[in-house]
Amino acid sequence: MRKCKIDFNESLHPEPWRDFYIRYFPELETMDVKEDGFTDQSLRCLHHDDRKPSATVNVKSGFYVCHVCGSFSPYRFLVEIAGIAPENASYFINDYLRELYVKDEQTGNHLNKVE
Ligand SMILES: [Zn+2]
Repeated sequence: MRKCKIDFNESLHPEPWRDFYIRYFPELETMDVKEDGFTDQSLRCLHHDDRKPSATVNVKSGFYVCHVCGSFSPYRFLVEIAGIAPENASYFINDYLRELYVKDEQTGNHLNKVE
């Protein structure tokens, strides 16, 4: 599989990973975030029976942090927490970032190129 790096303009997307995680945590739609980018409320981790929510996501950096499971990049979240096959996970992330990049292009403000 061809690997490509897609650089979207982060200033146009202050919370680039919110939409990424909404499909797993619909409550993110209305959830506030703290200054560091982490949600102000905890989420129920998908990886284990989580009665007392122990996970949070960072809508700025994309990191998923669970007090039980540890810290995960978006890629590792898809593979290790959501259980998606590695080849599909990288495809999905590339696709997601490309969408942000295309949005930049529409505004004419993007600075980086698809490699
Ligand atoms: Zn967990």
